[in-house]
Amino acid sequence: MNFHILTLFPETVENGLNSSVIGKAMEKGTITVKAHNIREYTTDKHKKVDDYPYGGGAGMLMQAQPVFDCFLSVKEEIVKRSGKSPRVVYVTPQGAVFHQSMAEEFAKEENLVFLCGHYEGIDERVLEEIVTDYVSIGDYVLTGGELPAMVMVDAVARLVDGVLHNGESSQTESFQGPLLEYPQYSRPEEWRGKKVPDVLLSGNHQKIEQWRLEQSVVRTKERRPDLYQKYEILKNCENHLLKNKLFHMDMLEALRRGNARLLYFEEDGVLLQEKNSGAYLFTTKDRTSGEKILRSIFSDPPQREKVKLFVSHQECMNAFLCEFFSINLEMECIQAVYTRKEPLPVKRGMDIRKLDAGFLSALEKHYHGYVEAGYVESQLKSGVMYGIFEEKKLAGFIGMHKEGSVGMLEIFENYRNKGYAKALEAFYINLHLKNGWTPFCQVETENEKSLRLQESLNLYMAKEQLYWLGK
Ligand code: SAM
Repeated sequence: MNFHILTLFPETVENGLNSSVIGKAMEKGTITVKAHNIREYTTDKHKKVDDYPYGGGAGMLMQAQPVFDCFLSVKEEIVKRSGKSPRVVYVTPQGAVFHQSMAEEFAKEENLVFLCGHYEGIDERVLEEIVTDYVSIGDYVLTGGELPAMVMVDAVARLVDGVLHNGESSQTESFQGPLLEYPQYSRPEEWRGKKVPDVLLSGNHQKIEQWRLEQSVVRTKERRPDLYQKYEILKNCENHLLKNKLFHMDMLEALRRGNARLLYFEEDGVLLQEKNSGAYLFTTKDRTSGEKILRSIFSDPPQREKVKLFVSHQECMNAFLCEFFSINLEMECIQAVYTRKEPLPVKRGMDIRKLDAGFLSALEKHYHGYVEAGYVESQLKSGVMYGIFEEKKLAGFIGMHKEGSVGMLEIFENYRNKGYAKALEAFYINLHLKNGWTPFCQVETENEKSLRLQESLNLYMAKEQLYWLGK
């Protein structure tokens, strides 16, 4: 990912970001951070970039021309390389306050431009021309935008694959949700008479996880009652969905993995947006309630147009959904869930490995799923695809769909009936268990072979079907 920072103080940004984790990621080339000096673009012969504001008032204002020309030069470079105009974030106390899900959204961009103001800010006209997002780091006023831009670069960069040591993609990060982190301890076991809590030395991972969750809850309640309130709503929503656990596992897992934006929750229905896929997941009591909920949430036609993927849990909604969002029914699925905690046995001697970009053409050639262009590549890049090998040759693969279900399973023709599909899926289920997730897949209703495979692996099927709709 490439960060471009437009600033009057490039050295502040460069010096501030070139050490520790972010500095190492820059060294490795996982990210690039380039500060562009706005002053170099001024047409003023004295290199002036600011002037008095019209109408009077304190301080000076950055002028439009140098900012605009600096941006044009950066944009030209980006468009040449990526074919796409970048998002431009003006860091300003007047913007929406930066938070983790904004960082997650920004991390999906290949290029991101930050514009830093100084003095009293920037001439409004150039902001109108180039800015796509106005973002603040909090309700206080700093002297310049360099620190806010650095804060955002740091928060976004650590979500880029390969920046953090564990190499986990944001799609496989474990759920912390709205809770603050639990307290942590390192050596020695005792310091100034204070002991590390016994449970952390017990080696019992289940107990440790339980203790950490409890601590997170207590801490959040004490320190951030606003977040705790959100947590309670999520918990209530989870309990509501648990009444039909198998059927709602897609929604439950999106919530538990921290990948859901909860848009509506009452007794008559739940609507959430899964963040990785952008898909809306919806369940409702009946058609009348369903229509009422969706009409209130998507009251604006432009909002409706943005809905590209929708998972409906009730068939009775489909005709309305097709018309309301101008989408079509694409797939009918049965949800299968692995409800146990114990890992599955994987047949001995199976050579299963994570796949890298070198396998893209093999995957694209063999994957038959109904997905948009670039989908396989994006899943491969995010590190969720695994292959099975026979004598060093790829014989099949499996992965995770963007919305979190286990899938994309293909075994190549000459390698079928050797137990590879079962081994791959068992292996993948175990990976999800390790993350503390409940593994689930969505099988097309007519795919008898896959349904039998799920049964043989002891996955339970939901009684009702669910429906994928899309543009
Ligand atoms: N006159 C401006 C106003 O009232 O909105 C404040 C200007 S401030 C002194 C100078 C620059 O610092 C801003 O243009 C902005 O880029 C940056 N800045 C200051 N506080 C910020 C904050 N809380 N979040 C993001 N950027 C900030």
